[in-house]
Amino acid sequence: MKHIMMLFFSYFGLNCCVLFAHGDTLNVMMIGAHPDDCEVGAGGLAILYARQGHRVKFVSMTNGDKGHHQLASDSLAKRRFEESMEAARRIGISYEVLNIPDGELLPTLENRHEVIRLIREWDADIVISHRPNTYHPDHRYTGVLVQDAAFLVTVPRIVSGVPALKANPLFLYFSDTFQQPTPFRPDIVIDVSAALEDMLRLLDAHESQFYEWLPWINRMDAAPIDTVQRKAWLRAWRLPQVQLSDELATQLHRWCPEKNLQEVKRVESFEICEYGRKVTDAAIHQLFPMLCHNEADF
Ligand SMILES: [Zn+2]
Repeated sequence: MKHIMMLFFSYFGLNCCVLFAHGDTLNVMMIGAHPDDCEVGAGGLAILYARQGHRVKFVSMTNGDKGHHQLASDSLAKRRFEESMEAARRIGISYEVLNIPDGELLPTLENRHEVIRLIREWDADIVISHRPNTYHPDHRYTGVLVQDAAFLVTVPRIVSGVPALKANPLFLYFSDTFQQPTPFRPDIVIDVSAALEDMLRLLDAHESQFYEWLPWINRMDAAPIDTVQRKAWLRAWRLPQVQLSDELATQLHRWCPEKNLQEVKRVESFEICEYGRKVTDAAIHQLFPMLCHNEADF
């Protein structure tokens, strides 16, 4: 079996719950290439959904077994699985890590069917993944696989062992900075300032990445050893105060005209994929019930 693990953690650890405008619980799935990609791309959004009582699941398409300069693949895959489970526990979500080697993901029929199965079994309302034009082949092919699944999740004769979804989910992309063939477009911008402390705890769970591998591959100074100091170091590096571009400010204002932009410390933005559900502005407010809340509401 490819999917070697799946855990669900009940969410009692954080202050909850803010009521959302509509009555349903949303099923949100984020699909990244590696253990930590969903955290980086949409950790704040996941935290805000979980606090509101929605169901969130992260999927890593690979086991991340190449992301270290010292550890062997077997021990690294085990460590990254444990880090992922700790990350899930800290914010009250589910997490599944597929046992595909890091750097070797391909857009095969087998993997497409696996993605279709995952989305159907989660009965997803929203699916977020990489754009297919980004720097890492695992990210690109994860984006392709999710795009390929976007329509087929509703087709009963495809992966017939798992019931097809009756409604197509809304598919979104994580943000990135790549320009070819098209730059990222921030259709939806979420103020995640209220989630900052838990975002730090989420990233801190991935010790092998944020304190070891990423500083090494980015030719940075080594992270502090002391656990308090290194969290402050991580916050300064990965979660700095946002400098709102005109584009981001315009989108924040569009979705929430009364929001005080001076108080926004951090945002996450997402591009709508045109292959999934077509949404009205009203539907977006239903699917993102945190869109027009301020930090004090959480
Ligand atoms: Zn990655």
